[in-house]
Amino acid sequence: MKNPFEKMPTILFPDELIDKAFRRAEKAASAATPRGKPFQKAREREELRIRTVSQVLRDNLRKVLDRTPGVSTLPPFYQELLDTLVDRDMFHKSLASINWAIKTIKMLEDRYVEKIRYSRDPDEMARLRRQFYGRVASIIKDIGDRLEYLNKARDVLKDLPIIDLNLPTIVIAGHPNVGKSTLLRQLTNAKPEVASYPFTTKGINVGQFEEHWLKYQVIDTPGLLDRPLSERNEIERQAILALKHLGKVIIYIFDPSEYCGYPIEHQMHLFEEIYEEFKEFPFIVVLNKTDIADEEKIQKVESFLRDIGIDPIRIVAKDGTGIDKLKERLIGIIKPEMEAIVLHNMGRSLNG
Ligand code: GDP
Repeated sequence: MKNPFEKMPTILFPDELIDKAFRRAEKAASAATPRGKPFQKAREREELRIRTVSQVLRDNLRKVLDRTPGVSTLPPFYQELLDTLVDRDMFHKSLASINWAIKTIKMLEDRYVEKIRYSRDPDEMARLRRQFYGRVASIIKDIGDRLEYLNKARDVLKDLPIIDLNLPTIVIAGHPNVGKSTLLRQLTNAKPEVASYPFTTKGINVGQFEEHWLKYQVIDTPGLLDRPLSERNEIERQAILALKHLGKVIIYIFDPSEYCGYPIEHQMHLFEEIYEEFKEFPFIVVLNKTDIADEEKIQKVESFLRDIGIDPIRIVAKDGTGIDKLKERLIGIIKPEMEAIVLHNMGRSLNG
């Protein structure tokens, strides 16, 4: 799945939109070659102006509606992100006001065309047409704030991470510099794609790998799962919530060498927080940099983990040591679940 907001168009400013519609109408009117008596010619031209203005405005507004996904149609991950980035209510209201404008413009178009058809006086027709112009211009100006809001929302939303929501997803957590992105590169053969992510200036790293004919996705969210949760602001907390809709498994990384700059006590503390926050998820814990860490520190972390029933894996993300074992553990967790889904879907299509 792609970013659902990717196709959202930029919206013209109200004045630009109005100008565009009026210019098109003039062009259409001067290109027309109406026949008949002068009042019939005038009528045809004025009608054409009105229809063209209405059409241009409605087409532009319709494009915004068609290319913007409705909030309730979005997968939960994106709904949650939408909430953190833009005011969902305002977003919804803005779309509703565009819908209102489209309907109202159409209604006015029909009404004014009808009035013109009753007239035989070119001056009156021009007056009616100008009246129509004034009314539609004020409709567009009325929804100007809403249009501007959608434009701002678009600028944020079009940069949402491109994450495949259908793939089982592994989320990497741990303090900065413990080796998260190194591990991501080891696990996924492809160079991870760095998608921009609005909660951190560093972007989000996404990589994929295939094993036993199933594809997996690994993501690392710098700045999100690498600090105590108590330091989070509301937006970050919500971003973490959004992650929960994605993640299937958490890989937590310790750096017992402490070269990352965080003593193991701090790392244990952060682990406890993340473990609590994501308690419904299976966890795999790795001890990285075991090539340079003191055996004593490694064992201290290991016994801390074993006490809570976790069997950690020693790895050296830099050279790939222990990665096979880690993959095996990951697949052991994810594969049965994925197979159950595949079987379930097969059963459904066979029965249906
Ligand atoms: P992140 O901030 O958690 O993504 O950490 P990085 O992946 O950027 O790694 C931080 C530093 O640790 C880098 O200089 C890596 O080269 C180094 N590093 C990562 N894994 C290992 C390892 O297994 N052994 C050693 N000695 N260094 C490592």
